[in-house]
Amino acid sequence: MKVKVDSELCIACGACVSLVPEVYDWDDNGKAMALEDEVPADMEDEVKEALGSCPTEAIEEI
Ligand code: SF4
Repeated sequence: MKVKVDSELCIACGACVSLVPEVYDWDDNGKAMALEDEVPADMEDEVKEALGSCPTEAIEEI
């Protein structure tokens, strides 16, 4: 799986970055972004949890 963040929807709450800093990070504009690489299989559950925790549904699986 891969995920991406819609920076227009991100309110920079930090939930995703706190939950899985290996996959979600801050971009230069202070919004969250996701690594473009394939999510390692052993991290998919955490990455999906973070997706579900986003208050603005800014994260989508691609
Ligand atoms: S959880 Fe959603 S709103 Fe919060 S920083 Fe991540 S993408 Fe942005």
